[in-house]
Amino acid sequence: CTPSVLASPLPAAPTRPLLPVVGADLRAPLATGGDTRYVNLDYAASAPALLAVADHVAEILPTYASVHRGAGYASQLSTQRYEDARGTVARFVGARPDDVVVFTRNTTDALNLLAGCVPDGGEVVVLDIEHHANLLPWQRRAHRVVEAASTLAQTLSRLQVELARRPAALLAVTGASNVTGEQLPLGALAGLAHRHGARIVVDAAQLAPHRRIDVVAGEIDYVAFSGHKLYAPFGAGVLVGRRDWLDAAPPYLAGGGAVREVTLTATDWAPAPARHEGGSPNVIGAAALARACEAIAALPEGCAEVHESALRRRLLAGLDRIEGVRTLRLWPDSGSAIGVVAFTVDGYPARQVAEYLSAEHGIGVRDGRFCAHPLLSKLGADGAALRASFGLGSTADDVDRLLAAVEHLVTEGT
Ligand code: PLP
Repeated sequence: CTPSVLASPLPAAPTRPLLPVVGADLRAPLATGGDTRYVNLDYAASAPALLAVADHVAEILPTYASVHRGAGYASQLSTQRYEDARGTVARFVGARPDDVVVFTRNTTDALNLLAGCVPDGGEVVVLDIEHHANLLPWQRRAHRVVEAASTLAQTLSRLQVELARRPAALLAVTGASNVTGEQLPLGALAGLAHRHGARIVVDAAQLAPHRRIDVVAGEIDYVAFSGHKLYAPFGAGVLVGRRDWLDAAPPYLAGGGAVREVTLTATDWAPAPARHEGGSPNVIGAAALARACEAIAALPEGCAEVHESALRRRLLAGLDRIEGVRTLRLWPDSGSAIGVVAFTVDGYPARQVAEYLSAEHGIGVRDGRFCAHPLLSKLGADGAALRASFGLGSTADDVDRLLAAVEHLVTEGT
């Protein structure tokens, strides 16, 4: 019989993926025996690779070689692919001509790298809603944390007061919350930072897979994101932004590739990006990430947002219908949000719900505190919460499967 949450119409949502991803036909084993189509609602942790990305990796794998190191054909090919990937990423974020694209391992790596590049004595201002990757690197530097208020407008005023109170070198903000999915108004934040003589870095780990980023139009100084959340495999991320800090800072890793000349007593370090890419680079990861950027950029403007917003509306409307389910949101006045929804179920620890969804229904969601402990406390979900997240490969059926399963839990128990 139809679960009652689905009995009356929910907001319409796409029935087909916007782009094909790998693993769409994965079967998940069920505790009761048998199996079912795996419902991946954990895109915010790591998104499945786009088919186009998987094909590209398969194509280039046979010819990979160490970049910038040899005159052999494979080495030249890899070097070319690696540098082309840099150009693709620069275009993907609308970088300025003199911006630098540094390949890193992921967003965490990129933000740690930038933390080492903030000029000495410069202070960093952050909100208390950040993922640990955009909180802990700054704790190693002089920093000030601003508590987000109960509205976005008040939060912006608090930032304004803090930036005016004492000069800061950098404002570090997320583009979209990895817990609530709410987006931050980057143009306004960049304006605020610049008016007070600070630069802005955007942690776009969550934003980049969902929304177009335009560094120039948004007046963003630095942006960081990860390949594995952008429909590419693990191991490659980027930091893109202004050259001066990157060239002036000590190399992130000391080693081969980061230098121009070495003697036993002195090293002449290369300028960025090589300066911060010591060691043999992840050419396959960079090329895969770039292929994902191309595939996403080729989508008609706004259609990823339309796809995901419809899924989000359907999921929120459905969860609101289930008694005892509470969705977590920061601000009543926040504008758009990406495909990330966190919630709790009264009477059930998040881990138990996540295990139930997996074992009984073949649904993968994240549970815990999402590497944002201060934010979870702020939202009143100290213990833990659940997070459903989706993207280009998701459909209304994924949402409905989750809604039916949560309703089943609430009405029937485990
Ligand atoms: N920032 C945000 C908003 C995130 O959601 C995450 C990962 O979940 C990160 C940074 C860190 O990304 P990574 O683990 O790829 O370094």
